[in-house]
Amino acid sequence: MRKNDVYWWSDAPLTAPEPKPVPAAADVVIVGAGYTGLAAAIRLARAGRSVQVFDRQRPGEGASTRNGGITSGNLRPGHAELAKRFGEDRAVAILAEAKAAREDLYRFIAEERIDCDFALTGRFSGASAPGDYDRLARDAGAISLVEIVEAMEGPLGMTECSLHAGNCGIEQSCGVRANWRRINDVVVEALRSVTLAQMLAAPAPPPEPETRRIALHLANA
Ligand SMILES: Cc1cc2nc3c(=O)[nH]c(=O)nc-3n(C[C@H](O)[C@H](O)[C@H](O)COP(=O)(O)OP(=O)(O)OC[C@H]3O[C@@H](n4cnc5c(N)ncnc54)[C@H](O)[C@@H]3O)c2cc1C
Repeated sequence: MRKNDVYWWSDAPLTAPEPKPVPAAADVVIVGAGYTGLAAAIRLARAGRSVQVFDRQRPGEGASTRNGGITSGNLRPGHAELAKRFGEDRAVAILAEAKAAREDLYRFIAEERIDCDFALTGRFSGASAPGDYDRLARDAGAISLVEIVEAMEGPLGMTECSLHAGNCGIEQSCGVRANWRRINDVVVEALRSVTLAQMLAAPAPPPEPETRRIALHLANA
C-alpha cells in the first residue's frame, strides 16, 4: 500500500489542540512544538515559568513524529572523523554528549510514563572488509567504560530507584533517593570519562628510582 502520510499516524493520529485565546504575556514564548520546543516548555513550566508554545502545524507534525524512532547515541561521523575535525578531547566530549542525550530520553520516557513501545534492542555494527574492521577498532577511543558496563549489565543503577521513578512504594516519602541518584551520576560520570583505548594503553613506565651515590674507597692491603 502506498501512502503519502506517515504510516504510524494511522494508529497515533495527530491531534490539534482546541484553539485558546493567547495570553497577553508569558515568561517564555517558544516557536515550534516538536521535541525541542516541547522538551524546553515542559522543563520551564515545571520550574514555575509561564510558557506559550506556538506552531504553524499540529504539535509534532514536523520531524518529531515522522522519524524512524531510532534512539542510538551514535553520531553519523564516528570518533575517527570527529577527532580529525575537532581534536581528540572534543571528539570524545561530543560523543559523550550524544550518549547523555540518549540517556536523558530514556529517563524522560520512564519518568513521564510515556507509552511508546520503547525497547532497547541493541545494535550490531558489522565489519564486512578489513578496512571496516580497522575503522571500528580505531574507535576504541570513543567507547567509554560506562558503555561497556551497560552493554553487559544494562543501565547502571546503584539502586532501582536511582534509574527510574515508580519502582518503590515509599518513593514519595523517601529522603535518600535524591542522594542515591547523585552517587549514581558521579559513578556514571567517572566511568564515562575513561575510554576503552585508555584502558588498553600500555601503562606508563614507573618513575626511575631516586639514586644516591655512596662514596666507596677500597682500602689497600
Ligand atoms: C524522516 C525522518 C526520519 C528521522 N529519523 C530519526 C531517527 O530514527 N532517530 C532520531 O534520533 N532522529 C531522527 N530524525 C530526526 C528527528 O526527528 C529530529 O532531530 C527531531 O524531531 C527534531 O525535533 P525539533 O523539535 O527540533 O523539530 P520539529 O519536530 O521539526 O519541530 C519544529 C516545529 O517548528 C515548527 N515551525 C518551524 N518554523 C515555524 C514558524 N516560523 N512558525 C511556527 N512554527 C514553526 C514546525 O511546524 C515544527 O512543528 C528523523 C527526521 C526525519 C525527517
